[in-house]
Order: sequence, then C-alpha cells, then structure tokens
Amino acid sequence: MEKTDWPRTLLAWFDGHRRDLPWRETKPRDPYHVWISEIMLQQTRTEAVKPYFAAWMERFPTISSVAAADEAEVLHAWQGLGYYSRARNIRRAAQVIVSEYGGVMPRDPAAIRALPGIGDYTAGAVASIAYGEKTPAVDGNVLRVYARLYAVRDDILKSAGRKRIAQLAAETIPADRPGDFNEALMDLGAEVCIPKRPRCAACPLRDACEAARLGIEAELPVRTKKKPQTEWQAACGIVEREGRFLLHRRPAKGMLANMWEFPMALAAEEAESRRELEALLGGRAGTKRWELTHVFTHRIWHMRAYEMESAAAPAGEDWRWFTREELRQIPLAGPHARLAASV
Ligand code: SF4
Repeated sequence: MEKTDWPRTLLAWFDGHRRDLPWRETKPRDPYHVWISEIMLQQTRTEAVKPYFAAWMERFPTISSVAAADEAEVLHAWQGLGYYSRARNIRRAAQVIVSEYGGVMPRDPAAIRALPGIGDYTAGAVASIAYGEKTPAVDGNVLRVYARLYAVRDDILKSAGRKRIAQLAAETIPADRPGDFNEALMDLGAEVCIPKRPRCAACPLRDACEAARLGIEAELPVRTKKKPQTEWQAACGIVEREGRFLLHRRPAKGMLANMWEFPMALAAEEAESRRELEALLGGRAGTKRWELTHVFTHRIWHMRAYEMESAAAPAGEDWRWFTREELRQIPLAGPHARLAASV
C-alpha cells in the first residue's frame, strides 16, 4: 500500500467494521446526538455511556428541551458521569443555540467551537459527522493512531506534538467522506490501535504504518507523566432527624460546584478528618455506616460515613434537610450519590 492510500483503506475497513452505537442510528446524523455522545465519551467508556445517552435523550429529546430545563434537572441527568461543568456547559450552549441559531446546531466549525464547553475535537466531530464538513477531530485516540502511523516521537501532550499531528490530520482527511473518516479513526483507535499492545496483525493499515515497520508501536505515543494524585481522608456525617438528612451545598465555584453533599471534612489523617467533622456538626462521630475510595483525576478521597447527632446543625441557605425520596432527585456531588443510595 502506498503511504498516501491509507485513508481509502481505512474507509473500506470501516464499511465492514463500523461499530453499531446508539448515537449513530439517525440518518442523516443528528448533530445534537453527535454532540452529547462526544461530551459523554470524553470521560467514560463507550459501553458505560450507552444507558446514559438513552436516558438523556428520553429526558431531553431536543436541544430546546435542554435549554429550557433547570440546571438542577440537567445536573441530575448527568449524575454518575462526573465533571459536572460539562453538563452545565451543555445547558448554556443549548441556550445559545436556541437564542442565536433558532434551536439548530450551527454548521460552521468555528461557530460550533465558540459554544460553551465545546473544544476543537467536539466541534470537528459534529461538523464532519453531522454536516460533512472537512474538519479533523483529533482526540487522544486519534493522536495515538497518527503518532504510530507516522512514527511521531514528539510528546503528544505538548503543543509541538499536537500541532504536528493536527497538520497530518488536516492533510489526510478526505473531502468526500470526512465524517466517516473521523469515525473510522475513532473505531480503529478503540478496537485495533489500542493503547497497550496494539493489534497490528489485524490492522488494515499495517502496510502503511511506520511504527509497525520499525517495531516501535508499543513505545508510541510519547507522553509526559501526569501530575501525581493527592490523597485525602474524608469523614462524612449521616445526620438524620424525623426521616430527613442534613446536606450541604458546595460553593458555586470549583470542584463539584453547587452539588449537594453530606457534611464532610477533608484532612490528611483519618482521625483529624473525624475531629473536624465533629467540630463542624457539634456532635460525636458514631457508628461507621459506609466506606468508599473515590478516584478523581488529580485527587483521591478515602471516604468514611458515620452516624451522627448534631447538637448545633449548621444553618443557612447552603444547609438543608432532605427526605430519602428527595435525595434521589437533587444533584449530588459524585460519590455522595453512592452514599445517599446506602442510607
Ligand atoms: S499497525 Fe499497529 S501501530 Fe500501526 S496503526 Fe495499526 S495497530 Fe496501530
């Protein structure tokens, strides 16, 4: 195979191997479906996204329905997917699409890119897949495939490496089937050119692949080490009065903004976190009812929840009492949804 032929070979492979995914079902492809699925897929495996995608589309069948929903309702539908700022941005972007584009996703990649929460990758995916625009969509999977195909040794987490691959992607995307090409790269990256031990023997691009020719496919792509994660001991209080539980709303800015959580204190040591929780609630931490380690991108919470009395429960608009039923409906901060399910 000539090196320049590989996009055709990839498309031919895609025609026989494309993955059946719920967001690929509409014909022509619905830009709203492409958009929501791509945002969900940024943080979660494809299999795990399927039920969230189905539930989301049932609850918010159109862009206008997301735009009209309360923020709490949107956050609740996103619960379990993490990174709640993405759900907030979807709602804000939907409102812009309604007010400025009559409820229809714009076609121009630059206009899509200007919407809240949409980066180059998602803009490229929506414009190419739904509208046939000749725009690359380069995410981590695609970076990996190009780094191997062209034996790019630049660090793909640095701008020089990303620029080089963005240029290769712009040069190789075919004008007649850009959306299929982008999805074919996604599928190849997900099923064949996988991060560890790529399946070169089964790869349609093997004859064009520089890394395979040099035998360095396992060494690519080059990426710098991630920031180390910080670990925290998290003591949580289960304070129940007449069938209602005391919860706190997190600040409007920062991690898990505006989400509800059980009263919680974070510290480096377990005993210290418990002491701080006791000081916060004015009561003794009693029986330990629940335990979980939750891993975020850059931090780990070792959580323990205790039954507690609270002589002087904190008050104010960020403190509220909720019934069990209400706990199922409010947006809960990440692992606190798991705790709520256990009380
Ligand atoms: S031959 Fe191997 S390294 Fe090259 S693109 Fe295919 S799976 Fe990836």
